[in-house]
Amino acid sequence: MPGKVLGHLLSRHAPVRVNLPLSGRDLTWMWKFYRACRLDTYLTYPSQLQRLAFYSRERLDQIRADLNLDYERSDGYMVLLRSVRDSKLVQPGLQVLRDAGVNFKEIGPQDARRIEVALNPEITFHGAVHLPDDEVGNCRQFALLLKTESQRTGVEYLFNASVTHVTGVASGHGVEIGIGGENQTRQFDAVVICAGLDSVRLLEPLGWKVPMTAVHGYSISAAIREPLNAPASAVMDERYKVAVSRLGNRIRVAGSAELGGTVDKKGSSPLQTLYKVLHDWFPGAANLSSVVQEWKGARPMLPEGPPIIGASGIAGVWLNLGHGSSG
Ligand SMILES: Cc1cc2nc3c(=O)[nH]c(=O)nc-3n(C[C@H](O)[C@H](O)[C@H](O)COP(=O)(O)OP(=O)(O)OC[C@H]3O[C@@H](n4cnc5c(N)ncnc54)[C@H](O)[C@@H]3O)c2cc1C
Repeated sequence: MPGKVLGHLLSRHAPVRVNLPLSGRDLTWMWKFYRACRLDTYLTYPSQLQRLAFYSRERLDQIRADLNLDYERSDGYMVLLRSVRDSKLVQPGLQVLRDAGVNFKEIGPQDARRIEVALNPEITFHGAVHLPDDEVGNCRQFALLLKTESQRTGVEYLFNASVTHVTGVASGHGVEIGIGGENQTRQFDAVVICAGLDSVRLLEPLGWKVPMTAVHGYSISAAIREPLNAPASAVMDERYKVAVSRLGNRIRVAGSAELGGTVDKKGSSPLQTLYKVLHDWFPGAANLSSVVQEWKGARPMLPEGPPIIGASGIAGVWLNLGHGSSG
C-alpha cells in the first residue's frame, strides 16, 4: 500500500494526494497508517470490517422493510478493471472477499456491458468484478425518512446547535453536555459521540486520544441528460478509485483521497479526474452545461480502517466514529 500511494503521488490523475503543509495530527496518522500496512496487522482488519458490513446490510434491509422506506436506490456494484495490471492488483483484495464469503464474480467486458449497458462502447477494458448483493442508496433521503419516522415515536431533534463539551457528572450517573449559546449545561443518562472529526476534540478531556484525521474527497452531482447513457447502478474505476453512481435522475461521481489542506479549499485536479472518469465510461450521460454540484468533504479516518463503535469505558459515553470511506 505505501508503495502504491507513493507511486501515485506525482501522476496527474492520482487517486491519492498530499497537500502541504501537513498538521502534526496528519503526520501521526500517516505513521500509524504505514505501520497498519504490515501484512500481519492488515489481515486482522478486513474480517472485522466485513462482519460490520454484513451486519449493517442486514439492519438496512430490516429497517427498510419494517418502516416501508422508499428512497432512491439500485442493486449491484461493479469494479471496472482497465488493464491486466489493474486485475492483478485487485487479486489480494478479492482473496479477502472470498475468505469472508462475499458474493462476487470476475467477469469479462462483454458480461460487464450486459449488466451496465450504457458503458461507453468506444472504451476497451480488461474486465470487471461484479458484486450483485451490494447496492447504491441516497443516504440523505434515507436519513430524512428515518428522522420523520423517529419523530413519530417521540425523538426530539435540536438543529444548528454545537456541542461545546461533554463531561461526566460528579455522582457518576449521567453525562453533561454544553451547547453553544446556552448558559446551562444539559444532563442526559447517556450520550453517543458521533461528531465526525470534532469527536477528537470532544473526547480529549475525557482521556480518549483518537488518532483520527480528515481524508478529503470530492464529488460532482449532475442531472442525467440521457437515461440510456447513464449507469443502471454504480461502477468503480479501480485505477482512479472513482465511483460513478445513479441516484434517481442524477449521476454522482465521487473519489480522491487527499491528506492535508482544508475542506473549504477545492483543488482543480481532483475534480478534473472525476470529469475524466465520467467521460471515459459514460460520455454524454450527465447534463454538464447546467447546474453541477461540486463538493469536497472530509472522511473521518482512523489509520487501521475499522471505526470505533460501542461503550467508551466512561459511564454513559458511547462512541460511533471513524467510518472512513465506508459511510
Ligand atoms: C467525497 C466523499 C465520498 C464518499 N462516498 C461515500 C460512499 O459512496 N459511500 C459511503 O458509504 N461513504 C462515503 N463517504 C464516507 C462518508 O461520507 C463518511 O464515512 C460518513 O459521512 C461519516 O459519518 P459520520 O456520521 O461518522 O461523520 P460526519 O458525516 O462527519 O457527521 C458528523 C456530524 O456531526 C456534526 N458535528 C460535528 N461537530 C459537532 C458538534 N460539536 N456539535 C454538534 N454537531 C457536531 C457535523 O455537523 C456532522 O453533521 C464519502 C465521503 C466523501 C468525503
